[in-house]
Amino acid sequence: MDAVNPATNERIDTYEDDSPAAVEQALADAADAFESWRGVPLRERQELLASAGEVLRDRTRELATVMTREMGKPITQAESEVEKCAWVCDHYAEFADSYLASDHHPSPPEATVKTRYDPLGPVLAVMPWNYPFWQVFRFAAPSLTAGNVGLLKHASNVPGCAKAIEDVFREAGYPEGAFQSLLIPSDLVDDVLEDERVRAATLTGSGPAGRAVASTAGENLKKTVLELGGSDPFVVLDDADIDAAAETGAWARNMNGGQSCIAAKRFIVHDAVYDEFLDAFLEEVESLAVGDPMDETTEVGPQASQSLLEDLHEQVEASVDAGATVLAGGEPLDGEGAFYPPTVLTDVPEGCPADAEELFGPVASVFRVESEDAAVEKANDTRFGLGASVWTEDRDRGERVASRIDAGCTYVNQLTKSDPRVPFGGVKDSGYGRELSAAGIHEFVNRKTVWIE
Ligand code: NDP
Repeated sequence: MDAVNPATNERIDTYEDDSPAAVEQALADAADAFESWRGVPLRERQELLASAGEVLRDRTRELATVMTREMGKPITQAESEVEKCAWVCDHYAEFADSYLASDHHPSPPEATVKTRYDPLGPVLAVMPWNYPFWQVFRFAAPSLTAGNVGLLKHASNVPGCAKAIEDVFREAGYPEGAFQSLLIPSDLVDDVLEDERVRAATLTGSGPAGRAVASTAGENLKKTVLELGGSDPFVVLDDADIDAAAETGAWARNMNGGQSCIAAKRFIVHDAVYDEFLDAFLEEVESLAVGDPMDETTEVGPQASQSLLEDLHEQVEASVDAGATVLAGGEPLDGEGAFYPPTVLTDVPEGCPADAEELFGPVASVFRVESEDAAVEKANDTRFGLGASVWTEDRDRGERVASRIDAGCTYVNQLTKSDPRVPFGGVKDSGYGRELSAAGIHEFVNRKTVWIE
């Protein structure tokens, strides 16, 4: 596996794929580790997680640099990502015991009945490159603390991140086999998933990858959680604070080079404030600093690879051919590296890629609607259902509109974000299951009823 720096398109490292014997050893180690790890008192597992958080904090700059070099995230955003991983460790270090406490039920007279949350076993995590640390810790922090062990199949363009994460758990003191990275291509995922020692799987990534993993898991009757793409609406109503909406919207679309499942992608703006919003939004978008991701003032770095940039540009070109108007950006930048400028499209025809597909890069589609009802209809006119954002000065109205949007979460007067304290996940083609909070730690457990007479 080649790690390529997308800021220069130069190869920075080459990693050998794991051999079949190494994969077999990892599966055997995972199964062995599970048998002892499940018996470690929860309090100790929580303490180890807190140690992982400390390791992350101690090594923030170094780990952030691994990310920036492999997938081009601006260094300040990479540091924030490492700190957020430490936060999710802190969160479950503090709350896992209350989330996993036995539930007592109204018992029949002859017995006491409890529900226990027991671990399932080795869980396979197929993860993407866009938040190469956060996506992994979002799964690993709750799942390992619940007593499972983790097998990570990371995206092929971030092998250094995969190895660095494995190293964080080792340095924190986790036992051998509790968290292992498999350097394998995606066509070997099925073999791992079919192995009887693997008990469940989680995948964050594209729809096709999610369908492939879910179908193999289904055939083998294994539980899955899928966190897939999104085409999140960002709804600006006629009573919105326009400056705040424009500033937050520009950031919500362009942070992480626009490569986020919960980025605001379709800006749906009430006719009464459309012109005012568009002017303010364009000003914000055009003021973003694009450049070297190692420069601390950079806000938008390169796309994660040249081929991802080419896929994105094809979607933009197809949308323009269909009638969309480019108001900013719209062409890859000259010079070395996979740089695509923040781009704004209007007059986006129904059904073209900028309307109907996920654009995984810094390209905003802006739509004009005549009413609140039309805004809701447009927001829901997508096969995705991950997040949404609604802007209005009337909080009751915001809550009412939020309740009508088909998405796993809707933020009013805020950009969509993931937070360890609240459930995260999607509906429709954005996947199923929930991560984070109590919901996340309950995904990979056996809710076992114990009846005692
Ligand atoms: P993929 O979904 O292809 O990759 C995500 C992970 O899934 C990687 O580890 C990948 O491995 C693995 N994978 C891919 N195909 C399969 C398969 N058939 N069976 C098992 N595992 C598989 O994303 P891409 O990197 O190709 O990005 C393409 C698009 O996916 C983006 O443009 C975006 O639309 C969406 N995406 C969404 C993300 C999100 O956060 N929801 C994150 C990343 C991408 P390998 O790298 O070895 O192929």
